[in-house]
Amino acid sequence: MIHTDVVIVGAGPCGLFQVFELGLLGLKAEVVDSIRQPGGQCSELYPDKPIYDIPGIPVCTGEGLTTSLMKQIEPFEPGFHLGQEVQTLKRNDDDTFLVETSKGTQFTAKAVVIAAGVGSFQPRPLHVNCVPLLVSTRNVSSSLRFSVCTSCPR
Ligand SMILES: Cc1cc2nc3c(=O)[nH]c(=O)nc-3n(C[C@H](O)[C@H](O)[C@H](O)COP(=O)(O)OP(=O)(O)OC[C@H]3O[C@@H](n4cnc5c(N)ncnc54)[C@H](O)[C@@H]3O)c2cc1C
Repeated sequence: MIHTDVVIVGAGPCGLFQVFELGLLGLKAEVVDSIRQPGGQCSELYPDKPIYDIPGIPVCTGEGLTTSLMKQIEPFEPGFHLGQEVQTLKRNDDDTFLVETSKGTQFTAKAVVIAAGVGSFQPRPLHVNCVPLLVSTRNVSSSLRFSVCTSCPR
């Protein structure tokens, strides 16, 4: 059981910046996300796309924004619990909250922030028999894009 001030559901840009705001108030946060890296839509859906509408930053990418947010919250030493989905949220008799994840991690917290954006991201494997599975299409240099194939599990 992890005891903390605040559990934040979602490590997207809102969840990450929430760590900063709570940190300024002296509150410790534990962040949970169903995907294995922070950044929410920015890192999962468009890491390389330019973003032009962040105040004070003329241009950055989804990945760049995530890196900056992670740097900004470093001093507050949040706990990260990635690759697990929050599935249970209950109020305890003493008005704290019990939060439990799909991996069985349990928290008691004085408050819970739901920064769940468009919802919990889940890996979506291709259900195709005997066809190599495409698992990644991230670029490795500015001019080359490639896919990594795994062998058929049979
Ligand atoms: C292709 C694309 C381009 C975009 N371009 C721009 C742009 O240029 N400028 C701009 O301002 N906005 C842009 N947006 C929108 C922007 O990305 C979103 O507004 C922003 O990501 C919302 O942040 P968020 O933290 O609220 O939610 P999200 O980024 O959606 O993050 C929420 C996180 O919560 C997690 N989560 C949810 N439920 C649970 C649960 N039960 N347990 C564990 N984890 C959970 C999810 O897995 C997710 O990682 C774009 C969006 C897309 C799809």
